[in-house]
Parts: sequence; structure tokens; C-alpha cells
Amino acid sequence: MSSDPRPAPGHPAAVLPLPPMKWDAWGDPALAKPLSEEIRTLLAQVFGISGQDAEAPTADQVVLRPSALSAEDLAALAEIVGASYVSAADADRLPRAGGKSTLDLLRRRDREAQDAPDAVVLPGSEDEIAAVLALCARRRIAVVPFGGGTSVVGGVDPVRADFPAVISLDLRRFDALHSLDETSGEAVLGAGLTGPRAEELLAERGYELGHYPQSFRYATIGGFAATRSSGQDSAGYGRFDEMVRGLRVVTPAGVLDLGRAPASAAGPDLRELFLGSEGVLGVITAVRLRVHPAPAVRVHEAWSFPDFATGAAALRAVEQRGTGPTVIRLSDEAETAVNLAMTEQIGGTQVTGGCLAVTVFEGTEEQVTARHRLTREVLLAAGGDSLGAGPAEAWEHGRFNAPYLRDSLLSAGALCETLETATDWARLPELKTAVTAALQQALEKSGSTSLVLCHLSHVYPTGASLYFTVVAAQQGDPIAQWSAVKAAASDAIMAGGGTITHHHAVGTDHRPWMNQEVGDLGVAILRAVKSTVDPAGILNPGKLIP
Ligand SMILES: Cc1cc2nc3c(=O)[nH]c(=O)nc-3n(C[C@H](O)[C@H](O)[C@H](O)COP(=O)(O)OP(=O)(O)OC[C@H]3O[C@@H](n4cnc5c(N)ncnc54)[C@H](O)[C@@H]3O)c2cc1C
Repeated sequence: MSSDPRPAPGHPAAVLPLPPMKWDAWGDPALAKPLSEEIRTLLAQVFGISGQDAEAPTADQVVLRPSALSAEDLAALAEIVGASYVSAADADRLPRAGGKSTLDLLRRRDREAQDAPDAVVLPGSEDEIAAVLALCARRRIAVVPFGGGTSVVGGVDPVRADFPAVISLDLRRFDALHSLDETSGEAVLGAGLTGPRAEELLAERGYELGHYPQSFRYATIGGFAATRSSGQDSAGYGRFDEMVRGLRVVTPAGVLDLGRAPASAAGPDLRELFLGSEGVLGVITAVRLRVHPAPAVRVHEAWSFPDFATGAAALRAVEQRGTGPTVIRLSDEAETAVNLAMTEQIGGTQVTGGCLAVTVFEGTEEQVTARHRLTREVLLAAGGDSLGAGPAEAWEHGRFNAPYLRDSLLSAGALCETLETATDWARLPELKTAVTAALQQALEKSGSTSLVLCHLSHVYPTGASLYFTVVAAQQGDPIAQWSAVKAAASDAIMAGGGTITHHHAVGTDHRPWMNQEVGDLGVAILRAVKSTVDPAGILNPGKLIP
């Protein structure tokens, strides 16, 4: 580790390295997924894409705007956190220059000078965070809290707004399991723990959190809370915000310790203000979470439905009867067909079209047997055909791998991105149709044919989330192309009664739709809270609140 916090020339090795994560793509470089010849042929046939990988700049070819912080600013930050925990080296700034959306990855390919935080700061205590925030308020430096950097909505973009400089406040050192209360079934976890590390620490004591978003391997406890993340096991264990029993937040105006009891009638629940606050209202340092004993038994079963409407009605029946699957999700016809085209056999079972649903059950032997039996009854009565365990096990085996494919598609000249919303069951079919049409029309306008896939990713008794995957050919400026397509889809979501985001959060990308989402008065309330806890407005400007 360097002891000199001044900007280092060129691109030296990072002094504050992150877990192995590609700077310009998703995930561990060792797990990259090159496109097969079949997929390249398909890209050529369907989208007219040559399939040849475009040349992208390497890390040492990327030019970052020079750090705007003075040596004195850096020395003042170093005085608070220690010189080894401040860096203005390009190799530390570049991996924190943005999140992992398609737009972020396209921006990383830019050969012009790119924006990045002016320094990376790693505090080690709440007092250090408070002191950094006070210093930044005095010196007018914006602060972007940084967890795993997996945001797909611009949440960690180094937006300066009116500030001359911006730092990335990396929470990685908040990495302890502070306590486990087995009587209450609660654990206090440091905000900087990644998903795998949190589960590892709990597993040592026989417990599990059960929060498995697709970004699980890199995202953090603080990030999950700050974005209201939803994991793939949400049917069984709930969304992340439903697991939260308490949280500690350092704001420029003081520290909040929220959540005294499992339930309370003491006015509005202030935890809710900070869940989903996206680093705009404070820095989350620790989260008290509901945990459960690691499941003894796991059972998988996949299902086929003749069409999406039949499958959606079946999932609704399961949720409304409360039969208790841990995972339940349904691909539409297009998504099932693409999975088929790519695998032919999914998990050793020949799937013959229709719509594929996956169920997983966890718990004790007794619980799993009862939940599985009840769920089967409902799915069979609703028109489902069992495909056995194979396709569900195959889904689970590969569930964290899809993002690697997106990266390879992007390199080959395809545009591949996801977006999501949620609505109640009554409006779901129309919303799905409207968003699909908006995506297809906007892509056609951009000059590309498109493939729009969808699945029900999270279900509730009263509604569900729709998760879209879009594949098209890059045309002209792909950043402008996707921005226009995303705007059209977002407009269709709002017009169709959906939420602008079910679990990706707001960031910069969904911010223009916040007035429609919560109304002008709702935005005014958020601004009032912001001005109370962050009077100088240094925390994550340009995100969440319009
Ligand atoms: C491939 C891929 C798959 C994904 N799959 C899912 C999924 O299945 N479900 C899902 O919900 N999301 C998913 N996401 C989105 C993303 O992973 C989540 O939003 C995640 O919760 C972000 O966590 P993080 O630690 O990476 O936060 P970051 O990306 O670092 O930050 C996200 C936001 O939270 C703020 N923040 C981070 N830490 C703190 C803190 N300690 N205090 C205050 N503010 C903080 C940041 O300032 C930023 O605004 C996916 C993203 C990718 C790239």
C-alpha cells in the first residue's frame, strides 16, 4: 500500500484493490464466456451483426480526467482515515468510475477522457465517516458511497453537480459480522460485506441470510439496503428490505440508529426512509437482519405451461394460497425459446416450448415436503406439466452466469440490457404487452430488429415484477440508442401503472421519472429530508431525488 496519497502518474497498480472484477465488464476475468459459433451465426442471421469482436481499449489505454483534488485535500483526507486508505491513483479511480449497466460498460470503452472520482477513500469507523463528511461539506467535495459497484442505474457515477470535486467512499472495511442473536434470529452485519462473505460468516454459525440477487458475488449488505434489492429467493425469504430489522446510518447531521423493536407504532417507520436512500441521505454502516438456520433440505422442480397467461395465473394461485416455495419464476414464450435454442436440453430434460417455470423449496424435511406437495397441487390444477428437477437444478447452477454473456454480446456489436418493473396482477398482462411494444418500436426506430424476453422474477399475493431482457444490434452511437429505447420503455411503464423500478433502484437513470412515481409533493418531502440530514448536499448528488 502506498503511503503517498498524491495522484500517481500513469496507471500504476491499484493501491486499494477490489475483489477480482473486470473494470470494463462484469465479474471475474477468469469466468469470461466467449460466444459460441452457434450464437455468432444467430447474431448474423437475426441482427445482421458480423459477430467479430470490436477492439476495445485496455485499462492502460483509458485516459481519466486528472484528479481535481489538491495535494492538501488529499492530505486532509489521509489525516482522517490514514494515508494507506486514500488514493488518487488512476488504477483505483477507474474501477470506481461507474457501475455495471450496459451504458456504464459502453462508457468505459470511450477513448476520450473519461470521468472518475477524484479520489477513493476507505474509512474504517463511523467516526472517520463523520469526519470525512464534515471535511467534504467544508471543502465542497461531493461524496459517492460505494459498496460493490454493481449498480445498473448510475448509482455510483461520479456526478459532481455544483461541486468542484467528488470522492468515492468505499465501505469495504465495514466487513464484520458484529453479532448473531440466535434467540431472536437476527444478525448485525457490516455494510461492506459482500454477499458471499456475509453468507460464509453466517454459515460458520449454522445460519443463512438467503439473499441471492444475480449480482450476489460482488454486491454488499449496505448496497442491498441502499437499493432495496430483491434476491432470487424472495418468495421464501422476502426482499432485502423485508429482512431489515434495524440499521445504522452516518449522515452529515449526525448518526441514526433505527429499528428498536420487531414492530412499532411510534410514528412512521424511519428505517423505510433510509432503505432505498441510495447514498443520498446517509452512509449505512451496519444492518440488523433477520436470519434463519441454514436449510437442511432443498428440492427443485421445473414446470412447463402452454403459455405465459396460464403460467402467470398458476404463480398467482401459488402466492395467493401461500404454499411456500423459496424460489418461483416463470419465463415467457420468447425467453423459454431462447433458453432452448442455447441449450436444446435444459438440465437433461427435453423442454418442448411453452413457458418454463422454476420452483425451489428449502427448509426442514417436513416443511419442504409439505410446501412442495401443496405447490404441486396448485400448479397441476392450473395447467402445469412437471419437468422434474433437472431444468430447475440447471437454472440454479447457472444463475450467476448470464451477465458474462451480456459482455460478450456487447463486444460482438450487440446491445444487451435488462430492465424491470412491477405491478398488480390485474394490470400485469397489459403492462407486459405495452413495455414489449415500446421496446420493439424504439429499437426499430433506431434501425435494429430486436429480441425482447421477459420473466416473472418476484411474485407477491397482489402482483409481480416483470423483468425484460433486450437484445438488438448496436446502431450509430449505442449510448444514445439505448438511452432512447430505455426512455420509451420507462414512459410505457409509467403509463401502464408500473413502478419505474422494482429492485434496481433509481440512481441517475430513473431519476427523471421520480416525479411521476411519487408526485411533486413526494419529491418535495424527499428534498426536505435531504436538506435536514445533508444541508450542504454533498451526498451522492444527481441521484434519486430530482
Ligand atoms: C449483473 C447484475 C445483476 C444484478 N442482479 C440484481 C438482482 O438480482 N436483484 C437486485 O436487486 N439487483 C440486482 N442488480 C443491481 C445491483 O446489484 C443492486 O442494486 C445491489 O444492491 C447494489 O449493491 P452494491 O453493493 O454493488 O452497491 P453499489 O453499486 O456500490 O451502490 C448502489 C447504490 O447504493 C449506494 N450505497 C452503496 N453502499 C452504501 C452504503 N453503505 N450506504 C449508503 N449508500 C450506499 C451507492 O451510493 C449507490 O447509490 C444487478 C446488477 C448487475 C450488474
